[in-house]
Amino acid sequence: MSLSTDRLTDYLKKEGILVEETDVIRNRDAVLEEIADACRRSGRDPKEVTLIAVSKTKPEEMIRTLYAAGTRDFGENYVQELDGKIADLPDDIRWHMIGHLQRNKVRYVVGRTAMIHSVDSLRLAEEISKESVKKNVISRVLIEVNVAQEENKFGFRLDEVKPFLQQAGTLPGIRFCGLMTSAPYTTNPEDNREYFRALKKLEIDINRSGIDNIQMDVLSMGMTCDYTVAVEEGATCVRVGTAIFGARDYSTR
Ligand SMILES: *Cc1c(COP(=O)(O)O)cnc(C)c1O
Repeated sequence: MSLSTDRLTDYLKKEGILVEETDVIRNRDAVLEEIADACRRSGRDPKEVTLIAVSKTKPEEMIRTLYAAGTRDFGENYVQELDGKIADLPDDIRWHMIGHLQRNKVRYVVGRTAMIHSVDSLRLAEEISKESVKKNVISRVLIEVNVAQEENKFGFRLDEVKPFLQQAGTLPGIRFCGLMTSAPYTTNPEDNREYFRALKKLEIDINRSGIDNIQMDVLSMGMTCDYTVAVEEGATCVRVGTAIFGARDYSTR
């Protein structure tokens, strides 16, 4: 007996076998569409916006599926998980470290990631600098800003960023490419517009003030709950997990 591809797919889906594989691609494409729409609304070029597929807690198979369908930018939060995935998956993936980074784990990340989004202290910046010089690489990093001043989140306050850059801006081996924030979880993305606007304003302010010739052009903001508004407000990277991979299960961690 031979089945047409469609009927085979239907059969496998009914058996719960193929669901995830095909869905992640469809989900990603829907997110890309939403990004393009948000760009149209705000007069931006969709090429300015990188979708980072946040794959933390998700199996390597799902990453391979998206990779085969063209995605190269993936975001991870946990160093140990990132370490394993880097070892197993294709070399041309651009890995983004988006979670809180402890200084004693810096060596696993420097030289192996496209960008570290979560620089949240001078001591961490110094450690990244030291390790980068040792490995003879330039680490591209973002400064994490807790714009909404949430108790449970890492990151500088808005008013701490310029003084930080005045101290850290000349560290060797490290390039401050821009700013990152995680806005509060919300069911109404409009609630977070003010935070994204504030981060964009800070970027403009920093670029005008000419601190050690620092010029920033990366704004990493927007997650599943609010990425369309983040794009309207100038995001150049959005970090989307749930809308692509489905809800995360932390019960096994
Ligand atoms: C998990 C995570 C994301 C993705 O969140 P979703 O709501 O699943 O899109 C983005 N950024 C950071 C820093 C995260 O930890």
